[in-house]
Amino acid sequence: MDHCHTSGLISLEQALEKFLAQTVPLTTTETINLTESAGRITSTDIISPINVPPFDNSAMDGYAIRLADLNENQTLPVAGKALAGMPLQGEWLAGSCIRIMTGAPIPSGADAVVMQEQTEVTETGIWFLHPVKQGQNIRTIGEDIAQNAMVLSKGTKLSTAQLPLIASLGIAKVRVIRKLKVAIFSTGDELQAIGEPLQAGQIYDTNRLAVRLMLEKLDCEVIDLGVIPDNPETLRQTFIEADKQADLVISSGGVSVGEADYTKQILDEVGKIGFWKLAIKPGKPFAFGKLENAWFCGLPGNPVSAVLTFYQLVQPLIARLSGFTAWQAPMRLTAKTTTPLKKSPGRLDFQRGIADINEHGELEVQTTGHQGSHIFSSYSFGNCFIVLERERGHAAAGETVQIEFFNHLLKNQ
Ligand code: AMP
Ligand code: MG
Repeated sequence: MDHCHTSGLISLEQALEKFLAQTVPLTTTETINLTESAGRITSTDIISPINVPPFDNSAMDGYAIRLADLNENQTLPVAGKALAGMPLQGEWLAGSCIRIMTGAPIPSGADAVVMQEQTEVTETGIWFLHPVKQGQNIRTIGEDIAQNAMVLSKGTKLSTAQLPLIASLGIAKVRVIRKLKVAIFSTGDELQAIGEPLQAGQIYDTNRLAVRLMLEKLDCEVIDLGVIPDNPETLRQTFIEADKQADLVISSGGVSVGEADYTKQILDEVGKIGFWKLAIKPGKPFAFGKLENAWFCGLPGNPVSAVLTFYQLVQPLIARLSGFTAWQAPMRLTAKTTTPLKKSPGRLDFQRGIADINEHGELEVQTTGHQGSHIFSSYSFGNCFIVLERERGHAAAGETVQIEFFNHLLKNQ
């Protein structure tokens, strides 16, 4: 594996390419009930065992007719009834029509259904007020999904848009890739658990909660190993323990160049560590590597950086490891900034912004304010990243910028 103690900065694209080159997806699969499969990734293509709809049926409440009968008659007497779940019974005599309801099977020989609102009931039968077209208001067999058609390819994440579709095929069980197990811990002697009073020099541990919540949204199984002090021996033991239990280990803190930053050192001992200096802001230091069993990501300690690197790097890595091949990078849109944005050239900057549509229907964005990597509220008040190109400097109000709306990992609605 690439032992990348590189002095240059690598781009986000290069980092993502390295993930693809160095990692392989999980292969273990399981068969589970469709009703319990939300969030899971399919491990086989889903092929339709039936036609949907399974039979020609009526799109309207009205009357099923044969066009030939109508050509000869002004009105047609009603000869029978077809309801949803209750097809027409018996013969359908020439020169008559069938009362039919939405979803009812089309009686054999019918050419069209005339909606009730385009008819009148007369003494001699149903009077059809408008010209009738062949096939009108008939939903044909298989017009949504044909039998044996490929409905969803393997590597699809199952959610509200997919599960009802699979249900419409009558498939009760699906084969999915097993959940990715992710062990997490925070490092830092200064970290205090929430609910405990702060002692001198302490701060609360925000990263572990942020990472856990995002992992849960990605449907991972989370193993929370708590806060680990800046002690090389404890850290070593934690890595060994985490490696036994998980497919991916994620730590935060201790990846910079400070005196108590042991993560790199320990990883060099217990695994193969690739340490990356990324050309992104926030979040320059990021450790990625392989332990004996699990993959490893070391997020920076500053909460804004930890969340940004998780979002931009760990999210696609998890998609890769979980076999979620249909995953797509967030879409970037063009917006006009209404506030000046400070930036120095050199790194791709993910500032937090608030985007909206102005009164002319144009997409606008403004900064959330202070962009320090300790200002976590920028995520809470923002709804997007303002993505400023690597070589760009300050942006003045009125300039065009790229934005990425937060996806479900960060969305506040
Ligand atoms: P480090 O990378 O360990 O030097 O940490 C960088 C900065 O992030 C320091 O100000 C730490 O106190 C802070 N920090 C580290 N871990 C956390 C955490 N889990 N929650 C909040 N802040 C943290
Ligand atoms: Mg630290």
